Amino acid sequence: MIEIDGAFGEGGGQIIRTSLSLSAITGEPVHIRNVRANRSKPGLLRQHLTALNAVAEICGGKTTGAELGSREITLTPGSIRAGKYEFSVGSAGSANLVLQTALPVLLSVHGVSELRVHGGTHNSSSPPYPFLEECFFPALREIGHGVTGELVRYGFYPAGGGEIAIRVKGGSAPKALNWLNREAEISLSAEAIVSNIGNDVAKRELKTIAKELNLNFDEACQFNYPEAQGPGNALLGRLAFGERIVMFAEFGERGVSAEQVAKRVVKQMKAFMASGAVVDHHLADQLLLPLALGRGGVFSTTRPSLHTTTNAEVISKFTGKTINLVPDDTRTVCEVS
Ligand code: ATP
Repeated sequence: MIEIDGAFGEGGGQIIRTSLSLSAITGEPVHIRNVRANRSKPGLLRQHLTALNAVAEICGGKTTGAELGSREITLTPGSIRAGKYEFSVGSAGSANLVLQTALPVLLSVHGVSELRVHGGTHNSSSPPYPFLEECFFPALREIGHGVTGELVRYGFYPAGGGEIAIRVKGGSAPKALNWLNREAEISLSAEAIVSNIGNDVAKRELKTIAKELNLNFDEACQFNYPEAQGPGNALLGRLAFGERIVMFAEFGERGVSAEQVAKRVVKQMKAFMASGAVVDHHLADQLLLPLALGRGGVFSTTRPSLHTTTNAEVISKFTGKTINLVPDDTRTVCEVS
């Protein structure tokens, strides 16, 4: 039984999700105490509980502590089955993070799987669905995995009601990743997603972004007014290096002007451009697990976040893989071996 202290490092939900995926894949039972101890509302929220139940169902495992608010859980995995799965967060909690917990498990076995998750699709403090589709899935395909996805319905916090679906071809032999240097010119663009609030918000966000980054508004700025159960606003800034996309997302919130939301995105885009890195700090923490489970690899990123260093520790504990983060001028080189 692997023992994980959920209070160490970042002390949030990622320690739980990474441990659950790895327990199912390695077949090692896991006991996690102090679940999300560093959060203002510790214990399992709906998103984490759904991830626990999802992994348990996919690997035919047994759980203890599988209830809301639980601060101590165990998973005793059985054997993983590819197949058709559907899970619902039951709130606006991130469907994307539930999907990200189940995906490595399904990739680890031979067979085609379909996974559908209901919940939030564009939430702050988690990857919005476009980030998965345009940044995370392409990274998985780069190392040889078969995964495609679809955003069926938008879901914003607090109304939720979103739906995402992916198709996974598991059991492929992965390759090592080599994303050390930028290999193409950067082109910048932005998309404002606005639902059930004044469309003016999108215009103000995009005008600000175009001005700050000196973009041609008609060519580089895109409006998106999807239908959703409740109000929501997400602003996506994209940096395309040839085929590869780096994305920074911010979310509208009460008391924060459209211009401020846009400036938050601009700040991250500018910092990333200046860094010379290939991988942003969010994708960096999310790439560690698939690389450690595959043939490893190397990539350059910006300054490692606490999510990255914490995730690296959890992954090394389960897999014995070494994850080195070495400062290199304005970048950090991450090597998984
Ligand atoms: P909690 O912090 O409440 O425990 P959580 O379960 O959502 O929340 P975290 O441990 O904070 O978990 O993990 C959040 C994950 O979402 C990390 O992998 C982080 O990189 C990712 N993430 C956060 N914001 C973004 C963003 N804007 N774009 C892409 N990924 C993001």
